[in-house]
Amino acid sequence: MPDKTIAVARREVPIGAVTDVAVAGGGPSGLAAAITAAKKGLSVILIERYGFFGGLATAGSVGTICGLYLHHPDRIERIIEGFAGQLEDALVKRGGGFGPFIRQGFTALLYNPWHLKRLCDEWIGREKNIRPMLHSYVADAVHEDGQIKALLVASPEGLFAVRAGVYIDATGDAAVAMAAGVKTEKGDARGMVMNPTMMFYVQGLDLVGYQAKGMAVLNDRIRQAIAKKTYPLTVGQGLVIPTFRQGEAMIKLSSLAREGRALDGSSVSDLTYAELKGRDDAEIAMDFLKHEIPGFENAFLADTAVQVGVRETRRIIGHYILTEQDVLSGKKFPDTICLSSWPLEKWEDGREPEMVFPAEGDYYGIPYRSLLPVGTQNLLVTGRAISMDHGALASARVMGVCMAEGQAAGTACVLAARRGVKPSEIDTEQLQLELKKDGARLD
Ligand SMILES: Cc1cc2nc3c(=O)[nH]c(=O)nc-3n(C[C@H](O)[C@H](O)[C@H](O)COP(=O)(O)OP(=O)(O)OC[C@H]3O[C@@H](n4cnc5c(N)ncnc54)[C@H](O)[C@@H]3O)c2cc1C
Repeated sequence: MPDKTIAVARREVPIGAVTDVAVAGGGPSGLAAAITAAKKGLSVILIERYGFFGGLATAGSVGTICGLYLHHPDRIERIIEGFAGQLEDALVKRGGGFGPFIRQGFTALLYNPWHLKRLCDEWIGREKNIRPMLHSYVADAVHEDGQIKALLVASPEGLFAVRAGVYIDATGDAAVAMAAGVKTEKGDARGMVMNPTMMFYVQGLDLVGYQAKGMAVLNDRIRQAIAKKTYPLTVGQGLVIPTFRQGEAMIKLSSLAREGRALDGSSVSDLTYAELKGRDDAEIAMDFLKHEIPGFENAFLADTAVQVGVRETRRIIGHYILTEQDVLSGKKFPDTICLSSWPLEKWEDGREPEMVFPAEGDYYGIPYRSLLPVGTQNLLVTGRAISMDHGALASARVMGVCMAEGQAAGTACVLAARRGVKPSEIDTEQLQLELKKDGARLD
């Protein structure tokens, strides 16, 4: 019988960097964490596997930043301020963002991924305390007695170690936490995760024609095509998101499953299938749009996103597990570090997304304890891998919330460094005061 494992010889790995804070992942939550900690004087290493920052906002071209706004019956206000609010303002100022944009009960910021990519370059570039490492993949963590001793980074230079006082896992997949032995979970009670989606770009679109005649019929025609089996579309509703460039839009019209089972973005085989099937599906969707939807007559598929969009993989078990019930009941916590009013948005079992809206004007809090993994003391987790159940993730994974969590994690590192304590030992009232001082909304 062939061997199931192979022994790796003990080896010495060079220490590539020593820093106050090491952030793994340069997506919305990692950026907020790194920039916040750096602005407050800590040295930061930001490790990102791609050649650019932004995470799914850029690599996945998801097209709208959600979670920033709160609906009242008569008005809309911004519920997430601080880092995320500044990012919205900067994007709008450079013509790369438009909001609040309201459609079908949702309010979001439309943005152009290229503008966001360049904004991230600028913001990271001007922080002298941040040493960014692109094309660098956190492959493992050295850990001992509940402490991470170093991250092992696979890079074009080979393997090197990064040592830090505090580590922030902003990989979205709890990659650092898992490597450090933190207990994680995945999916719902059956282990089913939400479906991924492949976003794609069209050019040559007559946007005015689409808005006049196509938008109103889009979802009916998608459902008819599925019912009559004229086009093998994978989800009964679509979204056309303008990029603010002549004739160009991002299209969300895919929900990737295999034989009714959602694809798991933390499995190599499922991810490979999702990328290939996602590109097939984009061509099918383009064919459908061109022939069935006014405005798309001369449009063509310009490209798919850099990567398939993954909604859900692992979540850590932290000191508090935020629940779907907490979200729907608008629960606030003594250690709330940010607010959210985004609905539950479940993409499951190859069906149409299911939306559950909280009461209008209501919102819930995310507790600091959900960022703290049980068992590893010098690690914070931000973004879609925080400690929450599958239902809560359906709401709290949106990017406005991820950025606010990142800001809280970066600030927590600063407080921990000032007092020489672990992140779990900081004074959470002090954390809230500091966040408010920096513009965050906590009530
Ligand atoms: C199809 C789709 C549509 C969505 N639509 C919206 C929407 O309209 N609005 C909205 O607000 N949200 C939307 N979301 C959700 C949102 O995009 C994500 O939940 C959010 O981006 C998560 O942020 P994050 O910082 O936790 O992780 P990510 O955005 O996933 O960023 C993680 C970063 O870490 C890097 N990374 C991962 N592993 C490693 C490693 N081992 N080493 C180094 N780097 C690593 C990645 O390259 C990436 O840059 C959508 C998601 C999907 C999939």
